[in-house]
Amino acid sequence: MGTSLMLISPLPPTKPHQFTSSIFPHKTNQPISLPSSRKTSTKIQSTRNFGNFLDLKPEYQPEALDFDLPWHHPSDRPQFDVIIIGAGPAGIRLAEQVSLYGIKVCCVDPNPQSIWPNNYGVWSDEFEDLGLEDCLDKTWSMASIYIDDNNTKYLDRSYGRVSRKKLKEKLVKSCVFNGVRFHKAKVWEIKHHEFESIVVCDDGTNLKGSLVVDASGFGSNFIDRDDHTLRKRNYGCQIAHGVLVEVDSHPYDLDKMVLMDWRDSHLGNEPYLRDGNSKVPTFMYAMPFSSNLIFLEETSLVSRPVLSYTELKKRMVARLRYLGINVKRVLEDEKCLIPMGGPLPRTPQNVMPFGGNSGVVHPSTGYMVARTMALAPIIAFSINECLGSTRMIRGKNLYANVWNSLWPMERRFARECYTFGMETLLKLDLNGTRNFFDAFFDLKPYYWQGFLSSRLSLKDLLLLSLSMFAHASNSSRFDIVTKCPVPLAKMMGNIALEAI
Ligand SMILES: Cc1cc2nc3c(=O)[nH]c(=O)nc-3n(C[C@H](O)[C@H](O)[C@H](O)COP(=O)(O)OP(=O)(O)OC[C@H]3O[C@@H](n4cnc5c(N)ncnc54)[C@H](O)[C@@H]3O)c2cc1C
Repeated sequence: MGTSLMLISPLPPTKPHQFTSSIFPHKTNQPISLPSSRKTSTKIQSTRNFGNFLDLKPEYQPEALDFDLPWHHPSDRPQFDVIIIGAGPAGIRLAEQVSLYGIKVCCVDPNPQSIWPNNYGVWSDEFEDLGLEDCLDKTWSMASIYIDDNNTKYLDRSYGRVSRKKLKEKLVKSCVFNGVRFHKAKVWEIKHHEFESIVVCDDGTNLKGSLVVDASGFGSNFIDRDDHTLRKRNYGCQIAHGVLVEVDSHPYDLDKMVLMDWRDSHLGNEPYLRDGNSKVPTFMYAMPFSSNLIFLEETSLVSRPVLSYTELKKRMVARLRYLGINVKRVLEDEKCLIPMGGPLPRTPQNVMPFGGNSGVVHPSTGYMVARTMALAPIIAFSINECLGSTRMIRGKNLYANVWNSLWPMERRFARECYTFGMETLLKLDLNGTRNFFDAFFDLKPYYWQGFLSSRLSLKDLLLLSLSMFAHASNSSRFDIVTKCPVPLAKMMGNIALEAI
């Protein structure tokens, strides 16, 4: 594993949280009421006079599936076809899809029953296309983008908040139905023998399988990454601080989610923060659930080196104060740290990566959940085909038959184009970023929607670039001409390497 990935390994598991089931009723878009305080020991007080909401202690409530799982018993199955490490969205979705073929699957995770901690947002159509729309607990018919104080754009595309509980329940129930076994442990090591791979767990269990899939997230220890010198150290990183809060009021429209609020008037009296924001800008992402319940996330879309978390939070405090948002309670908080771009895992190798560690995160946006849900059936299909002709899937066999279905040449080339988008954003200051998104969201919906959902072909991506240039303001064109040649050269170099 590369050093840069180690630096951005996932959060320590310090924050069991979730209020979802009580906040979000089972039907989409029903009136939402606030949970009453459920922890008597938690000190709850309002940030008087719009003070620092960071002083408030989040009222986390750990949440778990309310049904038991079929556990693995060493006596009942000597060998699995597929062992999946990790019960995050990627691991569970793949277990569900692979087991549909009658393949014997075991999913290993230190806590397979706990509900995922992150707040996930997706474009509603992405989940509708997959038949997962019942796993959204709230949708907004439009999204807004505040380019600056005088320019707001409204996107006619519905956005949804994923119900972590409903999605996990749905996928796990399907896994249970298909015969998936679960094992509650942390994987320490993977050993490969001639006729089987052995997954060594921290509870002393050894699981035997024909294929091992590593879906343990961004900080995976079991995948080797390509360390070709040209590609070293080219990760970008998204960092964000998100809070689900009870507030007196907030200024955002209830029928629109706020994809990006780039306004910076709140930094008027803070020259140091203002200066920092001009160079490495951050925006507010917001999901308003009601007039006094809202999810707010101050976000650095991509930075390298990663923006300081403290600075990000200071900007958020200043923004909320300026917007007159008085936080009364913090129901959840999250630190979002997502590595973007960077090299794909090295090939061939003996373990199949999937999810955060497999390069599927969108290099320009950090989104991944909907894409992972969509890719799992493709990988499951190729695993089934492959298991039909051999009992061991690893090395060149894994690469040729399964890896290539995740990353066929065209998708790898497209990824380089999305990474070019990330490299371009990394070069832009606040004004450049505003100009960029002003032009981007003026494109035909086919292009901006396709770009954000990683749906565009190479030809489409080329047409998008030309159209962007045509829509761009003169200063934006200047930015493109002066700042893009290096990222462009990098992209061309990487595409050439892929082709080789
Ligand atoms: C705070 C946050 C917010 C995000 N919001 C969005 C969003 O709104 N939309 C979007 O599309 N994407 C979002 N992402 C990006 C991405 O979708 C998530 O990171 C997603 O959770 C990745 O899924 P995963 O299954 O690959 O990994 P994870 O969700 O990290 O799951 C990995 C699982 O593997 C387990 N594990 C780890 N090591 C081992 C081991 N050694 N043995 C056994 N099990 C192990 C972990 O316990 C965990 O359960 C967000 C990311 C973060 C961090």
